[in-house]
Order: sequence, then structure tokens, then C-alpha cells
Amino acid sequence: MTGDRKPETMEGAGKVGPADTTAQILELHCKLVEEGCIECGLCQKDCLFLQRYGSPKQIAGQPMATAGDLRFSFECSLCGLCIAVCPKKVDPAAMFAAMRVAGQELGAGEFRQHAGLLRYESMGASPWFSWYGLPEGCDTVFFPGCAMAGSRAARVSQTYHHLRAMIPTLGLVLDCCAKPSHDLGRRARFHRMFRALRNGLEARGVRTILVACPSCYRVWSDYGGSIAVRSVYEILAEAPPVHRVKAITPVTVHDPCPTRNDTTIHGAVRSLLAAMGLPVEEMKHHGRKTLCCGEGGAACHLVPAMAGNWTALRADEAAGRRIITYCAGCTNFLGRLAQANHILDLYFAPEQTLAGRVRVTRSPLTWLARLLLQRTAKDLVRPAVIASRDREGKVLFRQG
Ligand code: SF4
Ligand code: SF4
Ligand code: SF4
Repeated sequence: MTGDRKPETMEGAGKVGPADTTAQILELHCKLVEEGCIECGLCQKDCLFLQRYGSPKQIAGQPMATAGDLRFSFECSLCGLCIAVCPKKVDPAAMFAAMRVAGQELGAGEFRQHAGLLRYESMGASPWFSWYGLPEGCDTVFFPGCAMAGSRAARVSQTYHHLRAMIPTLGLVLDCCAKPSHDLGRRARFHRMFRALRNGLEARGVRTILVACPSCYRVWSDYGGSIAVRSVYEILAEAPPVHRVKAITPVTVHDPCPTRNDTTIHGAVRSLLAAMGLPVEEMKHHGRKTLCCGEGGAACHLVPAMAGNWTALRADEAAGRRIITYCAGCTNFLGRLAQANHILDLYFAPEQTLAGRVRVTRSPLTWLARLLLQRTAKDLVRPAVIASRDREGKVLFRQG
């Protein structure tokens, strides 16, 4: 297995070393779960995946006779609720992620249902949709992520413009972090694509990356090396809001699962809402114990009913209150069963958002929106240096 600055599984950091083989890493994760799990049932309470396949101890102790026995791990949402509730700090999510990596390496990780997601990632990191613009003296860039750029291109421009007033040499990077490959166990591809992005920015003197997407935050946080990551919500919360609203009806907040342990972001989002004048009522599961929206780990492509259970649980807990979240994917998923808004829509267009009139671009028009965003980015950023990926994924810089 290819080593990076972190072990191969995000949640398993510190337990296994980068020099270990995939089989050794998986064996170690299974051993840790089998020895640590006391079968208290807490993690199974809300998780249909564990209800179907058994306690983490039972699963870890099962013989995996063939590579095909690993395929069930692609039905786990990798949401991390299990470790968050575990009294013994057992990490079943890391075990399932390791099973996916092993499944891929043994040729049992191919699912036709993932083709669209993998195409989406490839296009995002292609010469056509990637674009980097770094002004003179740039050491900080805004990385909005694919989902935000496609669904809310105007919001990306607005956020960049707003942040640039605070950080005059701010750059903009429209690219994909390759999280789908990471979560689907395609670690060689993930490392190749992410390293090209990270190393290119490092070599150009970028020291900080500002992200809007919690999944991007997870990737940059775990694999970003010398580049520090911050969420844009932390930066926005440091200044007075653009708008205040006269709302008396409380909203509730959905914390996306990739950043369940990043309490600074949870606090920043609530500070932003408070500064805007919006009262917040918490759901039972929030912060570290948040629930998945249903999109996690790409399980929704294989077992929509099982993944949909998370969405239903979320809608139940919201109990009719408007859900504010800070992930474009979560907003989309939760919007199937509840009233859900992205905080950047609320921040820049509160009246339209609260009136249900905010416009969000849907697929396939998201591709057109991303192209148009790229076209206007040069005027917005006025870069000294620009870059894009080539067909192999290399990031090629040139004068702007
Ligand atoms: S990561 Fe989430 S979906 Fe997977 S086993 Fe844990 S709680 Fe269940
Ligand atoms: S919460 Fe922990 S100890 Fe309890 S069943 Fe789940 S993994 Fe085992
Ligand atoms: S994590 Fe962010 S950049 Fe990566 S695929 Fe998702 S939206 Fe795109």
C-alpha cells in the first residue's frame, strides 16, 4: 500500500503504520475491533448497516474467505457515528474503510453504481473543469469544492469576493480533492490526484487553504501536509455579518459527519447564525454525535433504502424546523425530506433563502455553471499565476 503523511485510514490514524500492507492493516483493524467491542449495542441503535450485518465484534471475527466477502463494506456510510458513541473507543468505521481498500486491491471493489460518481470526480479534476488562480504574493487560497462550484457558482464568486476584502492576496482553486476515490478504497488514485494538487500549491508558496465543503476539510486536514486548512465559516464568523434577519422562528443545525470532531467549525457556524439574529435549537444528535445525511461513503448508490434511513432520522429530529447546514451534498440530501438550506445561501441572501426562493443549480446544468464560473474567475482573481490539470492529473502552472 502506498504510504502518505497519514496512515491509510483517516479514523485509524496512529494505529497502523504507512509501511504496513493492506492485509496487515485490515487484520489489525479487525483485531482491535474484535478485542475492544463489548457488544453493548449502542452503535447498532441507529445504524441499519450494523443492524443488518451484526455487531462490530461479530463482523470483525467473521472469516473473510474470498475477496467478495468484503463487498458488504461498501454499504457502510463511513459516517463515524459508531466510534462517536462507543464507550470503548472502538472504531468500526476505520475497519470498514480498510475492508474497502482491501476489496479494491483484490478486485472486488467494482460496482457499476459508482460509475457516475467516479466520472464526476474525474471531470472535476480534468483540464476542462480545473482552474487555479494565484495573485502576486498569494499564500492562502479558497477551495470551494466540486459540489459548491456546481450547485452555487454565484455563491462561490460572492464568497471569494467577500473573503478577498479580508485577505487581499487570496487565490482561488477550482478542482476536486478526490474524496470519492478515497472513500471507495481507490487509494492509489486518491494519492496521485491529491498529491498533484497539494504539491503544486505547496511549491507555489501556499500555506493555508480555506474550504467550504466538510469533506474537502477532512481530506485537507488528514493529508494536507504543510498546508493548514480552515473552514470559510471560521473566517466569516470573525467579522460582522453582511445581513441580519428578523427571524423569530428557531432553526436547527445539521453538522456534516466528515467534520463531526471539528468543534471549532461547529462553534463558528452557530456564531454566524447568532450574529445574523437567528435563534438555534439543537437536534438530539449534533456536533460530535451528529448523524449522516444519507450521502456518506457513497452507500446511497448501493443501498438507497438503508442510506435513506439516515435522512429520515434527520428529518424526524428536525421536527419541522428549518435545517441549516454547511455542506452542499447534505443540503441536497436533507432537502428530500425536510426544509434544508446551505448557510452560505442564508449568509448572502437571507430573505430569499428564508422565503424558499433561493436558486440552486441542478445536474446536468451544474457542469455549465462550473464552466461559466471558470470563465469569470480570471477577472475576479486577477492572477499572476494560473494552472489547470492535464489529462493525467498533473497540475501545470503558467503565467496568468
Ligand atoms: S460508520 Fe456509520 S454507517 Fe458505518 S457502521 Fe459506523 S455508524 Fe454505521
Ligand atoms: S458501541 Fe462500541 S462496544 Fe458497543 S457494540 Fe458498538 S463497537 Fe461494540
Ligand atoms: S469532497 Fe469537495 S472537492 Fe472532493 S469530491 Fe466532494 S465536493 Fe468535490
